[in-house]
Amino acid sequence: MSETTEKGRVRTFHMTVDIRGGLKLPNRILAGMLVRDDGTRLTAEEAREELLQAFRKGYDVLPTCDNHDEKGHCLGHDKEESEAPAK
Ligand SMILES: [Zn+2]
Repeated sequence: MSETTEKGRVRTFHMTVDIRGGLKLPNRILAGMLVRDDGTRLTAEEAREELLQAFRKGYDVLPTCDNHDEKGHCLGHDKEESEAPAK
């Protein structure tokens, strides 16, 4: 996660995973790389399936939030928004 200051406002951008790069990773690296909302980690097989599904949707990267463009890249969040309690 990275933050950039723009006219005093802080926007947060979510880290995304490059799909083609991710699919090339060996299972031992892929295992545990992706984390569910509940904090549990995906197995290598589950992570690979997630990447493939996103790839079929036309994404370049695996979207990690709701606010992303058509390629899956995070569009940024105002800090106020990112600090709001989870839905
Ligand atoms: Zn985001």
